[in-house]
Amino acid sequence: MRRKLVVGNWKMHGSIATNKVLLEGVIKGVGQARDADYVVCVPYPYLCQAQHMLEGTNIAWGAQNLCARGDGAVTGAVSPTMLTDWGCTYVIIGHSERRMQFHETDDTAAARFHAAQEAGMTPILCMGETREERDSDWTEFIVGRQLDSILRRYGPGVLKNSILAYEPLWAVGTGHPATPEQAQEVHAFIRARIARCDAEIAAKVRILYGGSVKPENAAQLFRMPDIDGGLIGGASLTAESFVPICLAAN
Ligand code: 13P
Repeated sequence: MRRKLVVGNWKMHGSIATNKVLLEGVIKGVGQARDADYVVCVPYPYLCQAQHMLEGTNIAWGAQNLCARGDGAVTGAVSPTMLTDWGCTYVIIGHSERRMQFHETDDTAAARFHAAQEAGMTPILCMGETREERDSDWTEFIVGRQLDSILRRYGPGVLKNSILAYEPLWAVGTGHPATPEQAQEVHAFIRARIARCDAEIAAKVRILYGGSVKPENAAQLFRMPDIDGGLIGGASLTAESFVPICLAAN
């Protein structure tokens, strides 16, 4: 039985004042929930605030990206050890917005995935197809390729301490989520592909769904057999919407 996990991805949103209200609301709403895991992935400047407010609670915090290199001459980058210094235990890797807007590739995502693990964090690898790719029936080809970039390099063992996330690009930020059946189909595909390498790891790895998850649709999605929780964007920005989604996983 896999424990459910709900991760808030704040993306490039927040301020010290609004984060305080949001985190206080989340602590109040899910602080007593014990049957699922909760994480917020915040912009770098707010890691200190997240650590300060969340330390000692049942809510973990993480970042939305990292540089695969160790400390050194890389202007503007943030290393894995800088994140662990702030108590980060999770980091999102290969989000579609990073792939599309910053030209990140399967190769660089794989390197950052590995660097996060080497530093002791749990990487959350995002995978997903565009609308055009889905319409061309390429979903399995695209998601399979994104998954294989990790499996081929590092073997299935790396999935022991990692989270996978299926985030179809056509559902991210559109208000049009995948149906529970559509998401389940791809999650089952991902699990079956891992099972070809290692059935035990496939049975244990948690696969999150992301893309327009809201309080109204979270429970139906989380009920599907291969959906182990959610990666939440817009609805993670207020406690009013994030808390009910968290509780739907409980
Ligand atoms: P939305 O929940 O806003 O669709 O974003 C999903 C996402 O990209 C989470 O990483």
